[in-house]
Amino acid sequence: SIQLQNIKKAYDETEVIRGIDVTIEAGEFFALVGPSGCGKSTMLRMIAGLESITSGTLRIDGVAANDLKPSERQLSMVFQNYALYPHMTVEKNITFGLHTKGLTKLEQRERCLAAAEALGLTDYLMRKPRELSGGQRQRVALARAIVTESPICLMDEPLSNLDAKLRAKMRSEIRQLQRKLKLTMIYVTHDQVEAMTMADRMMLLNDGEVQQVGQPLDLYNKPANTFVASFIGSPP
Ligand code: ATP
Ligand code: MG
Repeated sequence: SIQLQNIKKAYDETEVIRGIDVTIEAGEFFALVGPSGCGKSTMLRMIAGLESITSGTLRIDGVAANDLKPSERQLSMVFQNYALYPHMTVEKNITFGLHTKGLTKLEQRERCLAAAEALGLTDYLMRKPRELSGGQRQRVALARAIVTESPICLMDEPLSNLDAKLRAKMRSEIRQLQRKLKLTMIYVTHDQVEAMTMADRMMLLNDGEVQQVGQPLDLYNKPANTFVASFIGSPP
């Protein structure tokens, strides 16, 4: 599980995360939603260890994690812009993060082939990112995350660059992959439909504060306040 206790983040004097308490269970698909600037990426980056926590306690599987390095947290992350290396092949992009794990070349190749198989990339391993479509690049970014075999996966708006049709397809692919690998997923999106269709539970943030946490239908049927109702589009 990933446990947040009164987590706060301030840049200089400005508090952008104002005390968040939540426990995300192992194997859960947890969506983090809210309008632009509400603090979604900041939250994810604190959990990943890419951003310091100003106060409060983060526990990963019961272990105090505030001061762990990103590489000590057993998690993988998929960013909005994919951040692929343009000069490397798809295979190198997928295995790049494995060089710190003490695997042999053969082990790296085996993991890469398994991830490529799972994501339909087997025929593209020798290509460069510029020779791929947007959806294929997105799959490379996903393969790079799952190849680490980390039990926790953090995704920050992974589908925002794709057209509507491909988004719908990738939503179900990500969901299937998460179930199959039993990943603990924290999935950031500003799209409430995406959260409603994918998540076991979701958390709606506004201005660094939790508005409501629950199953998508709870937020829809029993919104805690007018902000939740209007964000989710509940009937009046
Ligand atoms: P979006 O949906 O647009 O990606 P977000 O919910 O991910 O938004 P964050 O990127 O977490 O929002 O930003 C939350 C707040 O913190 C914003 O007001 C932002 O301007 C501020 N912020 C983010 N990073 C920094 C920084 N390095 N220094 C100062 N303020 C920052
Ligand atoms: Mg963001």
